[in-house]
Amino acid sequence: AKEDGRNTFHHYHPQLDKASDEKFKLLQLMRPAIRANKFILNYQPMIDLTTGDQCVVEALLRWPQEDGSFVGPDQFIPIAEQGGLINELGAWVLQEACLFCAQQRQTGLENLRIAVNLSVMQFKDGCLQSVIEHALSSANLPAEALELELTESLLIDDTEHIQKQLLAISQLGITIAIDDFGTGYSNLGYLRNFNASKLKIDRSFVRSICTSKDDENLVSAIIGMAGNLGLLTVAEGIEDKASLEKLTTLGCDIGQGYYWSKPVAGDELISLISKES
Ligand code: C2E
Ligand code: CA
Ligand code: CA
Ligand code: CA
Repeated sequence: AKEDGRNTFHHYHPQLDKASDEKFKLLQLMRPAIRANKFILNYQPMIDLTTGDQCVVEALLRWPQEDGSFVGPDQFIPIAEQGGLINELGAWVLQEACLFCAQQRQTGLENLRIAVNLSVMQFKDGCLQSVIEHALSSANLPAEALELELTESLLIDDTEHIQKQLLAISQLGITIAIDDFGTGYSNLGYLRNFNASKLKIDRSFVRSICTSKDDENLVSAIIGMAGNLGLLTVAEGIEDKASLEKLTTLGCDIGQGYYWSKPVAGDELISLISKES
């Protein structure tokens, strides 16, 4: 048994060590990078499928490296969460996104609105509302211009504490959107408890909408029920015209995806929007 244990150890541990070593290195680099303003936001437009207007842009976090490559948020957000840095990073994102939006509103895009992704861990210490209010007031951005995206699957935790904060936040005039809808466990009625007014249908369903009748039916049901509850629907990850047409036929309100644009740097977004209008 002792031999087995040692074999397992030898077979298994080097990889584990390597993975946690990498994570530890990233975490060590993250704190100074936040403080030295080394993170950037990219922006991806959302399009009103009825009017064709750009209605909101989503801010997506990027970590550029010295060698010109990027570490993606799927990689570093979980590390920031585990390492206790998500509040600091999240506050930076809110601040930066509000500043960008306010600037664009002053220079021609007076109706621009901005969507920011939140980690559920940002609700833990109870300071989120004041962090948001500070970001808005220091950018001089009205609350109506801000939208917050929360991942559905994470809302099952600690719901009362989160609900209270979301109620107060939505009463400021901020829009709450549920991200990755369809992948978690909540039902549509339950979403009312979070004061959500938008649902973003997860990309995994959107991707297969033209090839899987089941996924088409599911998306159709989500759009129908959301409409009955007065919630707007956003389809994320639209990459081609056929999917766009299908979603429009199903009554989806808003679209987002590579079909229009990948997430791009702020100045690129501006030239993209100006070209279109
Ligand atoms: P998400 O909020 O669901 O964002 C959508 C992801 O899909 C983005 O990946 C976006 O680049 C990608 N995407 C958009 N359109 C298309 C498309 O047509 N096709 C395909 N294949 N992909 C598309 P990204 O930027 O790598 O972000 C990944 C996740 O990281 C986000 O998922 C979000 O959960 C998280 N994240 C990003 N920025 C932040 C942030 O500032 N704070 C927090 N807490 N999480 C963030
Ligand atoms: Ca999102
Ligand atoms: Ca999503
Ligand atoms: Ca996602």
